[in-house]
Amino acid sequence: MTIDYLLNYWKTNRIVTEKRVLEAFKKIDRRLFVPQHLWHVAYQDTPLPLLKGQTISQPTTVAIMTQALRLKPGMKVFEVGAGSGYQAALIGYIVGDNGKVITLEYFPELADMAKRNLIKAGIKNVKVITGDGSLGYPKEAPYDRIILTCAAPDFPPPFIKQLKENGIILAPLGNHRFSQQLIRATKRKGKLIREALGSFVFVPLRGKHGFKE
Ligand code: SAH
Repeated sequence: MTIDYLLNYWKTNRIVTEKRVLEAFKKIDRRLFVPQHLWHVAYQDTPLPLLKGQTISQPTTVAIMTQALRLKPGMKVFEVGAGSGYQAALIGYIVGDNGKVITLEYFPELADMAKRNLIKAGIKNVKVITGDGSLGYPKEAPYDRIILTCAAPDFPPPFIKQLKENGIILAPLGNHRFSQQLIRATKRKGKLIREALGSFVFVPLRGKHGFKE
């Protein structure tokens, strides 16, 4: 299986229609973000294990989320859950040289892995930081877009302040361990207007505003 198979599948079924998103998936090689012993399955449409029980999401999920963010060149984006760095790399590619991505990762081992992978992929506008992303990252706020690539009980309260007016926040939300709703919210007059985009399964958000372990 190659990435072209997935691109075709997304185009034919109108899962991804945005040119910039399709181009990012073509340019950023998922193989660089999966452990070496899994290279042969890098383009299969499944999540794959990383370290510490964490996973790189299924390509179709990553594609849906990337498109749902409605990214434009020059945007500043905050991600919670760097993991392999793949999602951050795709966003970094789309926002381009005038844009910036800040991605927080809870496990130092994964943060190091994400940093190495991003260097391999030649992505220079993504900053990986080790820490509790459930607090947001006020130092670089406000953000045009915020994305959580782990499941949260609800949008962590600090994020609303760190999101620009008319900005978009996207996260899998809910209290169920094996099913969450992907929620996209737009900040209008300081309040979040929500829409549901379907059911997904993600690893849980840890930290202050995450699930209690
Ligand atoms: N976006 C990643 C997939 C991430 S899986 C990729 O493209 O590969 C979810 C990640 O969220 C895991 O790496 C997990 O360690 C991280 N995570 C969970 N809670 C966190 C928190 N409070 N702050 C930062 N990262 C967190």
